[in-house]
Amino acid sequence: MVHAPPRPPAGAPRTRINLYSDTQTRPTPAMKEAMMRAEVGDEQHGDDPTVHALCDRMAALMGKEAAMFLPSGTMCNVVAILTHCQKGDEVVAHETAHILTSEGGTHAALTGAQIMGLKGPRGMFSADDLRAAIRPRTRYTPPQRLLEVEQTANIGGGAVWPLAQLNAVAGIAHEQGWATHMDGARLMNACVAAGIAPKDMVAGYDSVWLDFTKGLGAPLGAVLCGSSEFIGAAWRWKQRLGGSMRQAGLSAAGCLHALDHHVDRLAEDHANAKALARGLAQIPGVVVEEPDTNLVFFDVKGAGIDVATLQQRLIMQGVAVSGLGGRVRACTHLDVTAPMIEEAVGLIREALAA
Ligand SMILES: *Cc1c(COP(=O)(O)O)cnc(C)c1O
Repeated sequence: MVHAPPRPPAGAPRTRINLYSDTQTRPTPAMKEAMMRAEVGDEQHGDDPTVHALCDRMAALMGKEAAMFLPSGTMCNVVAILTHCQKGDEVVAHETAHILTSEGGTHAALTGAQIMGLKGPRGMFSADDLRAAIRPRTRYTPPQRLLEVEQTANIGGGAVWPLAQLNAVAGIAHEQGWATHMDGARLMNACVAAGIAPKDMVAGYDSVWLDFTKGLGAPLGAVLCGSSEFIGAAWRWKQRLGGSMRQAGLSAAGCLHALDHHVDRLAEDHANAKALARGLAQIPGVVVEEPDTNLVFFDVKGAGIDVATLQQRLIMQGVAVSGLGGRVRACTHLDVTAPMIEEAVGLIREALAA
């Protein structure tokens, strides 16, 4: 049995307040118009001008030599790990990392790399934690090859790695001769929250990708950046995995529109997340983690109800939230407004009291 997200029960109203995920944003009318106007070509053949424009812009934004357009963030991680690692190599990441917990065992199934999961609060680990994970190089130990971090850390509660800590762990990895890879699914949330330019945030990382389908609100696409040599080698894996596309400029135009119009506004999502956390903290039995960005995790065990029951009750009120690791996750994004947050807090309070 493969787990699928719960469907609303028969008779449930339409979801009005969708805090399930920032992946559920719909392209705005202006984004759709930009997509319709896109000049397109054969991406696989290197002929799509809009994809080139997006890749050039992303390489400049991230301070890297080159970039590649891919259909999803998961494919960015797969292509990057395939490019950095050989079978049997070890990737060092946090134990809650998306590559370990949420990619269907891809790295065992496809890349052949094994992943060591480090512990640490909020999806992050310290320089000392990383040093303690370095293995002696003997014929017995798996060759350690890659450090991977998530900025922001998803299951870590949307936590933002402080720049000094990101640079410290990258420095240790490089000292060891490892490569460094950043899963930047929500990188722009981190940059906006910290007030740090993307190229400064990712300077210690050899490869980095950004998802356009989270808070940036595009329907499709992610961009992987790195050196020309890295992206050149990554193209073979993109092709092998079927990630080379055709008139992908339609999607790339949505991503360019998102860079122009949906980055600065992430600050609103962060303010809404903070308001949600403040409201939830007033409800008896709820324990909320203070959000850094747009993800609000809270525990309802103290209210004597499990996550699935709360989800079902809320769905009947037109409110969707997700459950992750025994906690509730509520996600703010461009389809969630401040008045919706206020209403959601009231409905969550009622659902917990029912
Ligand atoms: C969503 C997400 C991914 C995967 O991105 P998709 O575009 O959904 O494939 C990878 N890493 C993190 C941290 C994510 O949140």
